[in-house]
Amino acid sequence: MADASVIRKTENGKLDVPDTPIIPFIEGDGIGPDIWRAARLVLDTAVAAAYGGRRRIAWREIFAGQKGFEQTGNYLPDQTLDAIRRYVVAIKGPLTTPVGKGIRSVNVAIRQRLDLYSCVRPVRYIPPVPSPLKHPEKIDMVVFRENTEDLYAGIEWAAGTSEARRVAAFLTEEMGARLPPEAGIGIKPISAVNTKRLVARAIAHAVEHDLPSVTLMHKGNIMKYTEGAFCAWGYEVAAERFADRAITEKALFEEFGGRRPQGRVVIKDRIADMLFQQVLLRPEEYSVIATPNLNGDYISDALAAQVGGLGMAPGANIGDDCAVFEATHGTAPKYAGQDKVNPGSLVLSGAMMLDHMGWKEAAESIRRALQQTIEQGRVTYDLARQIEGATEISCSDFARAIADNIDAL
Ligand code: NAP
Repeated sequence: MADASVIRKTENGKLDVPDTPIIPFIEGDGIGPDIWRAARLVLDTAVAAAYGGRRRIAWREIFAGQKGFEQTGNYLPDQTLDAIRRYVVAIKGPLTTPVGKGIRSVNVAIRQRLDLYSCVRPVRYIPPVPSPLKHPEKIDMVVFRENTEDLYAGIEWAAGTSEARRVAAFLTEEMGARLPPEAGIGIKPISAVNTKRLVARAIAHAVEHDLPSVTLMHKGNIMKYTEGAFCAWGYEVAAERFADRAITEKALFEEFGGRRPQGRVVIKDRIADMLFQQVLLRPEEYSVIATPNLNGDYISDALAAQVGGLGMAPGANIGDDCAVFEATHGTAPKYAGQDKVNPGSLVLSGAMMLDHMGWKEAAESIRRALQQTIEQGRVTYDLARQIEGATEISCSDFARAIADNIDAL
């Protein structure tokens, strides 16, 4: 019999969410328990306030990282991955990367083993957070970063090893490449299938939210068969799957005089280094950015810094079968257990999760209440040291202040 508390994917890819869904959570290492307690209070308060008890999240703890190791002897137990697959939506705190323990990164492993191919990072200004820009309010973007390939696939060999020498011998002797002696070597695979599913998700997001453009960010002028191919495949999937909803920038100017027809998403591309300039100088021209893994790593943190919110940037890793919402910062071990740090990243990732589930009223109330709390000058240490006249409060008090503001909305 079907479990009435399990979120399901319907045939058209939409979520069927019961009123009391089981949602697994990974508390996380370091500051993870502090920010998880805070985020959970805010999420539960928002759901209760929006739906008056009709809806509620049935949280279920699952283990990874240090706690996973202590419970099962494994940093990423199979049961944890099974639970995320079964319950479709999950949320996690930051996880320590164990040094020299045979796993490169638990976070990367979760993304790869669950095939969570798109890392989605919305970047929007929350006043009055101090920003290095004159007009941070002009930044309203969502980065779709490919999560499964590129240099992050981890295909690399250390300089001086027999493996690196064998690869170097193949490249020089059989493929005619020139290499410096004793180089470390990394491989950068980029494929049509992974590019197209990522770009399709980015375009679908723009269509669903009536956003003006999707920019393919790449370094194809130099890396033609990886980054350049990403760009070409991006345009291809736009033509194949969104012919009636997307137009290229070229068509925009040649056929529509530069005026975007209503309901159409403009597909454009920019060389990566140029886009870093443009998002500083003309941020209002960019909305959704789709990009390979390494570029996406750089641009999403750079954009978050532009709105002053590196510590509060939310994020999600989304595949076809399931999604994991997560704090984008690390475990900040020096603050662990001090009830001190800003839970904003996990709180806002939780709001993204509620959006994803279609519980949009609760999600919106969290964003409004968080902004209100910052406007009231009641903030954690990281913001207090930047906002003149603000009062520093603890992580848990910050969460309670947000929850009070939700109740007062
Ligand atoms: P980090 O944990 O993000 O901390 C770096 C600094 O960022 C902190 O010292 C603190 O700055 C600030 N910070 C981070 N989170 C904050 C919060 N919630 N509120 C306020 N300030 C915050 O980066 P790291 O020290 O490089 O990494 C530590 C561990 O986390 C490593 O094991 C790394 O692999 C892991 N990590 C995990 C993830 C993930 O799980 N997704 C992501 C990145 C890193 P101040 O010192 O200036 O106060």
